[in-house]
Amino acid sequence: MEELYIGVDLGGTKILAGIFDSEHHCLALDKTKTKSEEGYDAVCSRIVETVRSAAELAGIDPEKVSGAGIGAPGSISSDESRVLFAPNLDWRDAPLKADLEAQLGCPVWLGNDCNVAAIGIHRLELEAKPNDMVSIFLGTGIGAGIITNGVFLTGATRAAGEVGHMVLDPDGPLCGCGTRGCFEALASRTAIFKKVKAAVKDGRKTLLMDNGGNSLTKIRSGKLRRAIEDGDKLSIKVLNETCFYTGLAIANLCNLLNPEVVALGGGLVEQLHATMMPVVREVALERIMPGARHVRIIATSLGDDAGITGAAILAHDHS
Ligand SMILES: [Zn+2]
Repeated sequence: MEELYIGVDLGGTKILAGIFDSEHHCLALDKTKTKSEEGYDAVCSRIVETVRSAAELAGIDPEKVSGAGIGAPGSISSDESRVLFAPNLDWRDAPLKADLEAQLGCPVWLGNDCNVAAIGIHRLELEAKPNDMVSIFLGTGIGAGIITNGVFLTGATRAAGEVGHMVLDPDGPLCGCGTRGCFEALASRTAIFKKVKAAVKDGRKTLLMDNGGNSLTKIRSGKLRRAIEDGDKLSIKVLNETCFYTGLAIANLCNLLNPEVVALGGGLVEQLHATMMPVVREVALERIMPGARHVRIIATSLGDDAGITGAAILAHDHS
């Protein structure tokens, strides 16, 4: 019988689960809201429900899979069994591997969400299998998976790779981490939302306002794309700022790490790569030192599936 694997992408807002064959093709997937405010046990149950539902769509028995991989949004213990700290879920020292193994009835492999998505891009998308690669994911927050000399950069205390908290403007807006002007505070979807809200308060008009009313609900990336396609000046301005700071961040990373490939992913990039990539490349290449300038700066074609694909590959590699 063919071996099957589960890939789970656990995010701050949604859980995505897919069933994969041994060639890393996705047979079926399902998603649900994370609802982290309901607590750790409730989120675990929702992960299990989403996996079972994806398995049902694929027409397989979830107990028959060879293993499951999961990418979680936080730092992972060195034995890869616990989520040490996940600020978006409000988790500390959560024994996710053991709890999911008990509920799913198969071996579970745990990784950081950005590293796991980087595995998906590296293994499935990049034929050259670069030894040095930076993946940056732009969405609600900004995260990264960094491979140097063929291994993931972890740092002395597994805290490396916090690309979202590189300071790009010391006088910039306050970040969730308490510092001013972090990349994430300047360029994430949350940052875009705050900028639009402030501009609307100052009397600017934008298509992002709901039905001409005065409520500005949370901006999804798709809504921003449609506003930009319709020529909305405020949307174009804030996206340009996101591209500028992304280009700056990439230039800093390229000068520091000299990667072969920089791959961008996440919700913003999935929706807006056609508009974003030319600006991002131009800003970055103007600032990358000549020796590191051969870098390929791309948007991942895996889109939102990079996480579940990488998670399934994680399970496949360990099984
Ligand atoms: Zn920060």
